[in-house]
Amino acid sequence: MVRYVYAFSEGSRDQADLLGGKGANLCEMARLGLPVPPGFIVSTEACRAYLATGSEPDGLAGEIQEHLTALERAAGRRLGQPDDPLLVSVRSGARYSMPGMMETILDIGLNDDSVPGLAKSAGDERFAWDSYRRLVQMFGSTVMGVDGALFDKAMEGLKQDVGAKDDLGLGAVDLAGLVETYKELILRETGEAFPQSPAEQLHRAVLAVFESWNGERARLYRKREHIPDDLGTAVTVQTMVFGNLGPDSGSGVAFTRDPATGRPGVYGDYLANAQGEDVVAGIRNTVPLDELARIAPEAYEQLRGHMAALEAHYCDLCDIEFTIERGRLWMLQTRVGKRTAEAAFTIAAAVADEGLVTADEALTRVRGDQLARLMFPRFDASSAGDPLAHGIPASPGAAVGAAVFDSAEAVRRAAAGEKVVLVREETTPDDLPGMVAARAVLTSRGGKTSHAAVVARGMGTVCVCGAEEITVDPKGRCFTAGGTTVEEGTVISVDGSAGAVYLGEVPLVDSAVARYFETGERADALVDAVARAMEHADEVRRLGVRANADTPEDAARARRYGAEGIGLCRTEHMFLGERRRLVEAMILARTDEERDRALGALLPLQRQDFTGILGAMDGLPVTIRLLDPPLHEFLPDRTELAVRLAADEARGIPPSEHDAQLLEAVNRMHEENPMLGLRGVRLGLVAPGLVGMQVRAVAEAVVERRRAGGDPRAEIMVPLVDTVEELRLVREEVDRVLAGVSAESGMPLDCPVGTMIELPRAALTAGLIAEEAEFFSFGTNDLTQTTWGFSRDDVEAAFFSAYLDKGVFSVSPFETIDRQGVGRLVRIAAAEGRAARPGLQLGVCGEHGGDPESVHFFHAAGLDYVSCSPFRVPVARLEAGRAAL
Ligand code: ADP
Ligand code: MG
Ligand code: MG
Repeated sequence: MVRYVYAFSEGSRDQADLLGGKGANLCEMARLGLPVPPGFIVSTEACRAYLATGSEPDGLAGEIQEHLTALERAAGRRLGQPDDPLLVSVRSGARYSMPGMMETILDIGLNDDSVPGLAKSAGDERFAWDSYRRLVQMFGSTVMGVDGALFDKAMEGLKQDVGAKDDLGLGAVDLAGLVETYKELILRETGEAFPQSPAEQLHRAVLAVFESWNGERARLYRKREHIPDDLGTAVTVQTMVFGNLGPDSGSGVAFTRDPATGRPGVYGDYLANAQGEDVVAGIRNTVPLDELARIAPEAYEQLRGHMAALEAHYCDLCDIEFTIERGRLWMLQTRVGKRTAEAAFTIAAAVADEGLVTADEALTRVRGDQLARLMFPRFDASSAGDPLAHGIPASPGAAVGAAVFDSAEAVRRAAAGEKVVLVREETTPDDLPGMVAARAVLTSRGGKTSHAAVVARGMGTVCVCGAEEITVDPKGRCFTAGGTTVEEGTVISVDGSAGAVYLGEVPLVDSAVARYFETGERADALVDAVARAMEHADEVRRLGVRANADTPEDAARARRYGAEGIGLCRTEHMFLGERRRLVEAMILARTDEERDRALGALLPLQRQDFTGILGAMDGLPVTIRLLDPPLHEFLPDRTELAVRLAADEARGIPPSEHDAQLLEAVNRMHEENPMLGLRGVRLGLVAPGLVGMQVRAVAEAVVERRRAGGDPRAEIMVPLVDTVEELRLVREEVDRVLAGVSAESGMPLDCPVGTMIELPRAALTAGLIAEEAEFFSFGTNDLTQTTWGFSRDDVEAAFFSAYLDKGVFSVSPFETIDRQGVGRLVRIAAAEGRAARPGLQLGVCGEHGGDPESVHFFHAAGLDYVSCSPFRVPVARLEAGRAAL
């Protein structure tokens, strides 16, 4: 038989699914022998049944009645009994804590008849009327739907009339009058009288709590916290104890440690002569918890004892709600408390030290996103004023610098030692040098996967994008926001964690955790706690962690951060800046000689890049990707060029031969859909000499490093392969060049050649591709783009926020791997690739490699390593360790 209601004595902490977190922990406290007012719990199953059908499931009413009767028998009085009423609270509480998001109704059972009875049994008339007015107010607003502000207004009015400075200034007669006012208010607003029947009050309160699961606040909160919408809430019905019974009563909240820092101690707030939410509602000033030692020494000592017992029992920071009724302590709630990133690490280390938990368990309690937060410098919150503008927090951290409006200016000022913030409408690959030079990037357009966002995150540069309140005027070298004009050179502060921009310099606090990764210095307890979590993660993880890096500096940093190689070295970044001219010459070449000359000029430059990177990663694998983007990215913009030439023509200036050639090439190479066009391996197959030059540069760099006594481990990776034929054809050239360099140098070259798996067709034919590939690296950015058919550069701004609102997905598939679709392709390719070639190396490069949830998936899918930006390496290491537990 289905059961819907459970006594406290029947449940325990691991039944949060059924009883809600609050209910399950109340059962646990009761089992531990802590003073918990008796009660029972209506399960989440009942709520789900009610929400699904719109009516109570059969048998629920009967079960509630049975449990209520048992409660009444034990208490020796009935709900609402006129001469000595039993009162209960009806409390919401779901699987996951949703503090204050659903409803709770106190003092259920009071009515016109039992108020005098309560006054008499307690010997306190004011208290009885105070409880009644609370019930009418809570019931009226949450169950009967009257606007809560109307009650507040009535209360304010009364306080003014009698000259009371707060609710304590209202006496029994005032409160009795207030109850009348409230009841009239309810009748006027709803056409219905406040129900006098205790049974009806209880019944309707339970249903109202069910319904509060779908209240607007609750729904919003769930969306933000990624809590599923179909869990439902449990309902706890619990005997009331009273904190509003005079000065030796009160209500409070407590933490077993400081939730901000994790340091042990007594933290919390207490409010005398108060009930329920009064402590947090700010109706009167609370006192710090340790003052309770003076106010109610015995209860305080007991509370300290219970706090210690709970912490020892849960082996973690607990937060607690309690009430003192005439000196007697009652425990009303506990849960493993929410905490800051700092506290998470500190507490995990502390409880491990105290022997309360194992190192494994401690590691499960810290998360990669928390680590990431600790690695960025922060603004000192106390000294920041109002933001100038808000945008999307695209790449976290805090930075201060002079606003500049183009890449060249950023580079120029940075070279002169100035800190700059690059401000653009949006960025393009052309802005890369400026982005590298800048402390922060600010754009007025684009979403979390816009060029600015992706590149900035990759570099660990602070970025706020899509700040629509600002208008950028690159020609006028200024931007405006809310009536303020910011000229070039003006100092601004950018908070990439909060998505805010400030005028002027907000003071920065450096991150000791980041310094630890750079230097190994353990500056304080927090850093030590982080270090220990990292050490344990490295011990237990199976998944390797590499970095995406294109320069020796990034490679070196990645190595300091614990990278075990480079999983993606993008060669296109080596084709920008000065070298762009050479690429252009290669594209414009009309004869083989011209082309070979251009390639010949690029060769030593590329070789030099690779030598540096292989040196920085000596002894560790470096996966070098052959040129991937469409070539026209290295040519001028088509429209700009056409406009310039047209303007020249209008002034009678004929185009130079070079310009004419450029225009012809730009037009010839124009593609409507370049990301699905001539790029990746396709380029290698149709642009003669390009692959050869790149492979030669790699091979010669390997030779050079070996001669210098190094241990270079280059791997060559072919992007955007669709079919094994493509790979076979490129490999012919790759192998020929490797053999050539090997012969010239007299050195055997064992450079593994592999491919990216970033197209659905490649994933589905991975068994065939593996015949030609010594390793796979899943390019999950393109694989997501092509599997969903989402243009990464467009969809986010176009409709992702609508999709997130409508719940099509709860997180962008570009941020966290889509397990069902893209993840399935990864699993298929991994299995079929390995079946065809046992020992095939499997890795992931792309944004997902540094995303905590995705890391867990890649571990579960049995991949060998993930590769992510250097700054994400510690995060990936930590999560890979957690995934292995
Ligand atoms: P929330 O989930 O919003 O914290 P709760 O169900 O915890 O809501 O109720 C809010 C407050 O009401 C609690 O902090 C507690 O002080 C008070 N409360 C709830 N039940 C009782 C009770 N049986 N006796 C006394 N106070 C109660
Ligand atoms: Mg609570
Ligand atoms: Mg790709």
